[in-house]
Amino acid sequence: MRLARIRAVRKRPFTLQAELLWHTVPASAKEQILKNVFCGGCKGSAEMIDYSGTEKNGDVVLEGVCAKCGRRVVRVVETSEAPPPNN
Ligand SMILES: [Zn+2]
Repeated sequence: MRLARIRAVRKRPFTLQAELLWHTVPASAKEQILKNVFCGGCKGSAEMIDYSGTEKNGDVVLEGVCAKCGRRVVRVVETSEAPPPNN
């Protein structure tokens, strides 16, 4: 199972704020986001691995590596419209 693999590799250096925001994203959406990242090396969508997250203006900025070519990829996840988790 892919989920098991992701869990095993988990070393996510998310900032606390990014972690909280990322938690508000439904699991199915997360998967979609991580598997459809634009990669300049592949000239198309690719899967992001080894990603970390930081918070910027209420959104989560994911930075990781393309699973196909190893190029660095970045994806902004707009969560600022979602209700804050604990405020
Ligand atoms: Zn790539």
